[in-house]
Amino acid sequence: MKNVIFLAPPLAGKGTFSDYLEKEFGYLHFSTGSILREKSQQDESLKKILESGELVKDEIILPLVEEVIKTREKSKPFILDGFPRTLQQAKKLDIILSGLGVLDVVVVSIDVEKETLIDRVIGRKVCNKCYRSYNLNILAFKPKVNDVCDSCGSKLITRDDDNLASFQIRYKTYLESTSPIIAYYKKKGCLRVIHNDELDQTKSLNILRGVISEH
Ligand SMILES: [Zn+2]
Repeated sequence: MKNVIFLAPPLAGKGTFSDYLEKEFGYLHFSTGSILREKSQQDESLKKILESGELVKDEIILPLVEEVIKTREKSKPFILDGFPRTLQQAKKLDIILSGLGVLDVVVVSIDVEKETLIDRVIGRKVCNKCYRSYNLNILAFKPKVNDVCDSCGSKLITRDDDNLASFQIRYKTYLESTSPIIAYYKKKGCLRVIHNDELDQTKSLNILRGVISEH
């Protein structure tokens, strides 16, 4: 199985894709968003950056990414989710990965209409312990019990950055910074695009399975 880098706007379905790879194929899931949110609980300035929806500086995020990949369980493939966010980070990541001997990587761009993303923002809840995400407006992603995590039984919360204004900033930032990355990986030949239509989840996951098994 190939190691996977996800490129996707907020709420495009990275969480669902990642859950699928973890459960079906034993992937390790490195979400820079979760790692940073955890770290921000002891770091007030980092917390402010995250709440504003701005990008976190390379000096903070690059060493964290290198550390998790370096110390991972090496028999398993991994998912990198939420990184890289800029072309510069993509180039630095290439250096980190080749330095660590990680060569089998596919970059999966998840493509979703902006209107669909906005619908998802409104109903989203996330577990305050394991970060699994839910959506009250989408039947397949509703928790079994209101405001309780299906996986670990903890309370579901609305994340600080889950509001429409913050979404608009994150979406704009995503488009501006990620288009050059997509072009970069496309040129390298390791980019695959998956359209993640709500009604077509099974199809999207089947395509994903094909992508990670390519030779
Ligand atoms: Zn949970």
